[in-house]
Amino acid sequence: MHASRPEVIYLDNNATTRVAPEVFEAMVPFLTEYYGNPSSAYSFGKKVEGYLIEAREKVAALVGATAKEIIFTSCGTESDNAAIWSTLQTTGKRHIVTTQVEHSAIMNQTESLERMGFGVTRIPVAADGTLKVEDVEKAIREDTAIVSIMWANNETGVLFPVEEIATMVKRKREEFEKTTGQKGKGPYFHTDAVQTPGKIDLRGVAKSDIDFLSMSGHKLHAPKGVGVLYVKRRTKVVPYVIGGGQERGKRGGTENVASIVGLGRASELAVERLEEEGTRVRGLRDRFEDALLARLPHIYINGRRDTRLPNTSNIAFDFVEAEAILMRLDKLGICASSGSACTTGSLDPSHVLSAMGLTPARARSCVRFSFSHFNTDADINYALEVIPPMIEELRAMSPLSPEHPDNFAYDVTAAREREEKGMAETMAAINE
Ligand code: PLP
Repeated sequence: MHASRPEVIYLDNNATTRVAPEVFEAMVPFLTEYYGNPSSAYSFGKKVEGYLIEAREKVAALVGATAKEIIFTSCGTESDNAAIWSTLQTTGKRHIVTTQVEHSAIMNQTESLERMGFGVTRIPVAADGTLKVEDVEKAIREDTAIVSIMWANNETGVLFPVEEIATMVKRKREEFEKTTGQKGKGPYFHTDAVQTPGKIDLRGVAKSDIDFLSMSGHKLHAPKGVGVLYVKRRTKVVPYVIGGGQERGKRGGTENVASIVGLGRASELAVERLEEEGTRVRGLRDRFEDALLARLPHIYINGRRDTRLPNTSNIAFDFVEAEAILMRLDKLGICASSGSACTTGSLDPSHVLSAMGLTPARARSCVRFSFSHFNTDADINYALEVIPPMIEELRAMSPLSPEHPDNFAYDVTAAREREEKGMAETMAAINE
């Protein structure tokens, strides 16, 4: 029927991305010819070190920083974990401020720290996924080591005002230093920016008050298994991975040279293609959303367009389970995902959508589509051709319907109560 369609229509670019051909090409010599260890003293190793320096400069340019501010890690998760772990040690403090909607890299690490006796305050979000800077400020305590807030949400694409928050955190740190005379004891600010490179302009990062920032190669058309931790100059950092003196003593382990070189090339491409992401990719995404909204009743987009990444669309298809949609999409050759975690037969609704106040039923009907440079008009045309009849078919089989919408209605009261409860807990923790 759809004989001309490619085998895979990849609409899950927030999960991972295709390695760009330019990136692959840049990497090959470091897997074949230049395989020396960059820490070796002989010239065969030194030559590799030279390319490592070049790649570091290219990655630094992506965030407007200098090469010395870049630490290479194994992934975004390690960068996140390292920023928090390092700051707890350098400040000697025991409290972390974060949000209710972080990626599991931060969510599960802070839960684990809680079990070890550290304090964690998680800021709630509004129904449109946004967060208030004042709420973050109210949550900061005398013993806060770090405030860690993602730049863009991986499930919804909703953006947080991290530069503004960073400035507020810096002011808090300076006030603390002034009143106590204790220098460098926090609070510091970290942002998980894994979803942002190539989608928004990050070149102002080094001039902002952000102290730590995480990125990951595989989200920007570089390979999996390489990450970045940006650390603002003159900010103390202790290694999370302890070993040799690589990365100027800040991260042990022989560098993943080929992937780092690839990431350097991907960083250059991300800057070059920024405008395209903001126009062509945004255009594909908007056309996709507009056409679905026009064609299907009872669908809702999570997060406002003006506070979202240009490539992300998280859509609630009321009266249908996301898992059923994803199975159909898979058969149709379309890759997309749901934010929910499947656990032995029971389906937990996404913590991000729940925090936004969606009822469990609506949260379980949400599918994330995320686009990239490699998507074409033909991909969108095909998706728009097959998705509406497939949803109609699933709805026809569903026991739920607009006549019995109770489980799907957006529960504003519950959302408000949840937000108020979250803030009450925050305030109680502050006054403890
Ligand atoms: N943070 C965010 C926001 C992400 O989307 C991801 C990956 O999905 C990560 C962290 C983890 O990155 P990695 O897969 O490189 O560990």
